[in-house]
Amino acid sequence: MLTIRGLNAGYGKFQVLFDVNAEVKKGKILTIVGPNGSGKSTLIKTVMGMTKVYSGKITFKNDDITGLSTHLVTKRGISYLPQTGNVFSNLTVEENLMLAGYTLSKEDTKKRISETIEEFPIVKKYLRKKCGFLSGGERQMVAMAMAMIRKPEMILFDEPVASLSPKAANEVMKKILELNKRGITVVLIEQAAKKALQIADDALLMTSGKVTYQGSAKNLLAHPELGKVYLGIKSGS
Ligand code: ADP
Ligand code: MG
Repeated sequence: MLTIRGLNAGYGKFQVLFDVNAEVKKGKILTIVGPNGSGKSTLIKTVMGMTKVYSGKITFKNDDITGLSTHLVTKRGISYLPQTGNVFSNLTVEENLMLAGYTLSKEDTKKRISETIEEFPIVKKYLRKKCGFLSGGERQMVAMAMAMIRKPEMILFDEPVASLSPKAANEVMKKILELNKRGITVVLIEQAAKKALQIADDALLMTSGKVTYQGSAKNLLAHPELGKVYLGIKSGS
């Protein structure tokens, strides 16, 4: 569904990604793991048109989307949940949802909001509350509902549970699985590698801006060296 070929990209002249090749299959969950600073966030930001591409090609459903603006990538059917700052704290939940519909008419946005909140009880409950008053897990639910407003075919999550309590993290992960079961293709960057790999179909291991492994998540978990290298980095999680 999403194909990345020979991608070299970075920020200005600072190259972060080196000859990255990757494949995200329709309807599946791909987890991106790898140490801090290895380029995981940069990779999905590049898909969203937020970095500088030097060479290589990104295609989504066979269309070339390399270098398209974030707005246009979003319109093609990809939603992105950044690691931080994915809701406006000083706005209410409802106002955040209205903003998320920026590519739709006001009427369509309202219709989509009423449909979407049925699947997110917490979001429905706190519609008039300012996001700043919500817990981290609740804010993540709002961000997910925002991502769903435009009926995406694929959602890119950047460490959605990194700063959450175990309980909230479980709820968010459960929701992500639920969305996937309903046909949404998921890309999930996750530091808690083991857990993420257990729920994923496929995995991508990045080190120093390069792809060190791409294949089934199960194989990565079982891989004697890669598993050790990776779990060595995140020992205890
Ligand atoms: P990860 O998500 O795997 O922790 P990142 O993609 O965030 O890694 O970072 C990869 C590299 O890119 C790091 O060296 C980081 O310092 C650099 N980097 C990240 N964001 C920016 C930015 N906006 N401008 C310049 N360099 C950046
Ligand atoms: Mg990151």
